[in-house]
Amino acid sequence: MEFGVHVSIAGGIDKSPKRAADLDCGTFQIFSTNPRGWKGREISDKEANNFKDKLKEYNFNKTVIHTSYLINIPSPKDELYNKSIKALRKGVRRADKLGVEYIVLHPGSHTGSGIEKGIKRIGEALKFILEEENPKVNILLENVAGAGTAIGSTVDELAQIIELANKDKRLGICYDTCHGFAAGYDIRDKKRLDCLLQEIDDKIGLDRLSVIHANDSKGELAFNKDRHHHIGKGNIGLEGFSNLVNHPSLSDKLFILETPIDEEGDDTYNLKTIKGLVK
Ligand SMILES: [Zn+2]
Repeated sequence: MEFGVHVSIAGGIDKSPKRAADLDCGTFQIFSTNPRGWKGREISDKEANNFKDKLKEYNFNKTVIHTSYLINIPSPKDELYNKSIKALRKGVRRADKLGVEYIVLHPGSHTGSGIEKGIKRIGEALKFILEEENPKVNILLENVAGAGTAIGSTVDELAQIIELANKDKRLGICYDTCHGFAAGYDIRDKKRLDCLLQEIDDKIGLDRLSVIHANDSKGELAFNKDRHHHIGKGNIGLEGFSNLVNHPSLSDKLFILETPIDEEGDDTYNLKTIKGLVK
């Protein structure tokens, strides 16, 4: 079990490992390009090598990249679909160049074409990308809060996508606790957490759950609102996170915080809070 936060790549990607180490992280997450742009940053050999040297220097074993928010593979619009495929292919190449273990992807929204079509579109696209790029990096589908036509708010939908991509061994999931809570998964109750993990194991396999985005929720249970909050200050609360970090099935997972930074020191506070719950 390792804990970390999402850190900035300001000044270069190779600056991020030190930022994470300074916060006493055992893992961390970054964007490898502007998450709200299409351009797709090129990474020089020097920058990539510096980054990898720093990972070794600070003993980071496994790290995570979060993909651009603009990627929307299930889109019925061909232009957006094609741009999304291109951006994900570039993202996968950047991840391999940096030697990063996991790339996290939001499945996307079908924007009216229907959930079945959307799931088919993304499953087939992932199969194609994995065949064409043959990457080392593992692609993790993140569960979402379930607003609008977004795909992936249930374990079932994530399982169907992986199934359509021929259950490639490089496909897995990232479970976001805030999104899950917004979609109705209540981890405050130990039995319900057990049920959730059992469902993931039955339909996807717990070995494919590699990363947990540990975020508290400003929104109420099943309100479909994606509003991250500080650990213990939202509706999931300390008991929910204690259930999570002490669950025997999750002892080998990476926990990444994407909690807000309202004041300096908030990352330190949230990391200390969640680590302090481990019994
Ligand atoms: Zn997340």
